[in-house]
Amino acid sequence: MEVLIASEDIQRRVCEIGKRIASDHPVGIPLLVGVLRGCVIFMADLMKNIPIPHEIDFISVSSYELSSQSSGKPRLVKDLGCDIKGRDVIIVEDIVDTGHTLEFMRQTFLERGPRSLKVAALLDKRPRRLRPVPIDYVGFEIPDRFVVGYGLDYAERFRHLPYVAALSPEELDAEPAARTVGAT
Ligand code: 5GP
Repeated sequence: MEVLIASEDIQRRVCEIGKRIASDHPVGIPLLVGVLRGCVIFMADLMKNIPIPHEIDFISVSSYELSSQSSGKPRLVKDLGCDIKGRDVIIVEDIVDTGHTLEFMRQTFLERGPRSLKVAALLDKRPRRLRPVPIDYVGFEIPDRFVVGYGLDYAERFRHLPYVAALSPEELDAEPAARTVGAT
């Protein structure tokens, strides 16, 4: 396991993003929509760093057949609990890889008439992008490696790590292949 982004660097960047979100929303109460389950640590830290009133909700999207490969066919398995018509919505994602999941979420939400729709992603794995999706707040760009930690898992492990680390092909082979039945 190779540490790619240290905990202190993540904290510093999340603080910057939180301040920017606040200054970009001088009026209204933005709604942060976390994409379960990888978003949880990013979401919690981000909330603590947005110094204006805001609300939260969560969705769950299934997109992977195997834990380290994208099937490219997202499906909403848990929808929002509130109406987003006229709201300033910010999707909070752990990582954008091919962009299929984000494109699907943007289309789904735009049909519901929000006043604005933005995206905050902790990690941008840009070399793998297949869909040209806009990301308003990016934590870090990372290379084409499978990463874990800070909420991201492999076969439900490693989410608790306070840093982001890349698994080697050997480590990926050694782990049991987790079949996705719920959220990514
Ligand atoms: P996309 O639709 O952009 O290909 O995939 C987005 C989802 O794939 C993310 O929300 C995340 O759950 C998962 N994903 C993509 N790359 C990685 C990775 O390197 N590590 C982990 N743990 N999940 C990833």
